Amino acid sequence: MHSYHKNNMGTLSIVATPIGNLEDITLRALRTLKECDVIYAEDTRVISKLLARYSIAKPLQRLDAAMEAKRADQIIERLEAGEKIVFVSDAGTPGISDPGSRLVSAVRERISRFNLDIRIEAIPGASALTAALSIAGLDTGEFTFIGFLPHKKGRQTALKKVAASEIPVVLYESPHRILKLLKELEGVSRVTIARELTKIHEEVIAGTPQEITAHFTAHPDTIRGEFVVIIEP
Ligand code: SAM
Repeated sequence: MHSYHKNNMGTLSIVATPIGNLEDITLRALRTLKECDVIYAEDTRVISKLLARYSIAKPLQRLDAAMEAKRADQIIERLEAGEKIVFVSDAGTPGISDPGSRLVSAVRERISRFNLDIRIEAIPGASALTAALSIAGLDTGEFTFIGFLPHKKGRQTALKKVAASEIPVVLYESPHRILKLLKELEGVSRVTIARELTKIHEEVIAGTPQEITAHFTAHPDTIRGEFVVIIEP
């Protein structure tokens, strides 16, 4: 068992960042960013905007999904040397349809194998998943989150499971595929879409897939931005 006492070795902080509105960042996240030695980011340009807004200057390293497993060794070395390392994805909570989990898993594996005194901490904050559920007005005692549907292989099987689910299913979709998805969901009784959460054009649209398609057809300017889709049972 690894206990969370004061440690001589480093700390890996997995920090949630805003999903649009730059004010959606916790005081603890800002302090962690200010006090760290280095920030590993899915995209350094995205995090730079946030850091500029809060006048934080830190060494930045890119760590996207493709590099996650490879870079783990370098990060572990730095943690063993006592550094405070932050990982951020482009938006929201790392690991939620975003890189982060492979890095955490590699570091955890090393901690338990060599009994290292390294701490991994969560700095929680925004996520499109929880933001959407909080304003959807559904009974969210139970739900399934499936992230992005596969684009090709496995999509039909996944869609069948979604339609057959007895509890709400939450998924992420891009604007290019939203109309296609609504067509595929015909037959489902009710869908809620939360788009552009925390941004100027934030809106929630609910109805049958056909009704939502009609809405988007009437307002094509709203087929834009980022979407969370909730399919009701
Ligand atoms: N890690 C992020 C989180 O915690 O929500 C999710 C990252 S995932 C790569 C990006 C997807 O999340 C988008 O395609 C969209 O489906 C959803 N998303 C992110 N920001 C959003 C927003 N402001 N409004 C609605 N959906 C959003």
